[in-house]
Amino acid sequence: MDKLIITVAPTGSVPTKAQNPYLPVTPQEIADTAYRCWQIGASIVHVHARDDQGHPTLDPAVFARIYELISGRCDIIVQISTGGRAGMDPEARAAAVRRLHPEMASLTTGSMNFPDRVYENPFSTIEYLARAMKEAGTRPEMEIFEAGMIANAQLLVEQGLATEPLHFNFVLGSHGSLPATPKNLLYLSELIPSDATWTASGLGRWQLPVTALALVMGGHVRVGLEDNLYYRRGELASNEQLVERMVRLADELGRPVATPDEARAILHLTPPQHTSDD
Ligand code: ZN
Repeated sequence: MDKLIITVAPTGSVPTKAQNPYLPVTPQEIADTAYRCWQIGASIVHVHARDDQGHPTLDPAVFARIYELISGRCDIIVQISTGGRAGMDPEARAAAVRRLHPEMASLTTGSMNFPDRVYENPFSTIEYLARAMKEAGTRPEMEIFEAGMIANAQLLVEQGLATEPLHFNFVLGSHGSLPATPKNLLYLSELIPSDATWTASGLGRWQLPVTALALVMGGHVRVGLEDNLYYRRGELASNEQLVERMVRLADELGRPVATPDEARAILHLTPPQHTSDD
């Protein structure tokens, strides 16, 4: 079994500081959280950007600020979100990837219902985003909300827009898509190619059970306030607490936690190329 890769998703597009005051929103807050979570044991940070009013934005300048602040302080892997809650235009969703050439970016390979609207990802959009990632040297994390999205990701390989081994994130428990059950997680983990790697995310109260299952099944885990605002019922969480809990669980269960460089090896990432003047 590989060492455990912990991804922290600290912000997302939906949560607000009014719901949870620990939510990092400004570039500085996001970078500070990423740094502290890296110290605790996270090796990937999944990044969304917010504007000055705290609303989701796809502005590549904001992503660039976050990226610089994080990568100036630690070697955590930066995974840029190309999710569509901040806008559905494919070019806008790819802009930060094109500008920053991050090591990883998220790629949702299908459409589904969010609680409040339809999350549209037609093939034209999926292919556009995959091509942008390929051109940037960015490795996609395939965001899987429904089983058919796995086959869509494999189509990208046939089209030459993604390379194996693929990496997947199974997102369970979102209102409008696959429920968070052990059977569903097992099913998804068996559907992917044998050389692929996978992470699991559970939304809301499903974060702890889904990540605990992934931990013992040999998958990797994603925690953070994007997916879940609570440490336990009625008690708000910080991102740091959620990462700390995963590190503790992994230790108790005898699964070592991966450093960022170990995660790079497990996920077949190409480390960022730094020039002498940056
Ligand atoms: Zn996200």
